Amino acid sequence: MSDCIFCKIITKELPAHKIYEDDEVMAFLDIHPVSRGHALVIPKKHFTDLVNTPPEVVANLMAIVQKITPSIIEAVAVAAFNIGINNGSEAGQVINHTHIHIIPRAKDDGLNMWPEQPSVASDIETLAKKIKEKIV
Ligand code: AMP
Ligand code: ZN
Repeated sequence: MSDCIFCKIITKELPAHKIYEDDEVMAFLDIHPVSRGHALVIPKKHFTDLVNTPPEVVANLMAIVQKITPSIIEAVAVAAFNIGINNGSEAGQVINHTHIHIIPRAKDDGLNMWPEQPSVASDIETLAKKIKEKIV
């Protein structure tokens, strides 16, 4: 897509610190890293977000995440990582080209990816039923 930053990285119109590339996928370091080694894995074809990406493309992206993450965390000398996908602007998605964040994690690094809620929602049972009925 012509005005997409990530498409421009793929076509080399924009620079990136590339760490992996094959026919379908590219991975590069995030320019505003949440932690050292924060990387993004993207399909070479433009899809706007996770739900609009074909399942086989998502599966392949995840396979590449599995393949490259051990090398990323070894390079930054940590043993753990989070992966993240922001789907939609309210969730923090800024670039509308599907991407998976790989975020290396160190003990006591101060990141709080999953702040706990004080209590379980009172409607959890009816909510589960409602969601289940909607899944086709
Ligand atoms: P998201 O908020 O999930 O859409 O994530 C977009 C990510 O892309 C952010 O973490 C940005 O720091 C990163 N980003 C934006 N432009 C570039 C770029 N030119 N090269 C590398 N990372 C970028
Ligand atoms: Zn794109």
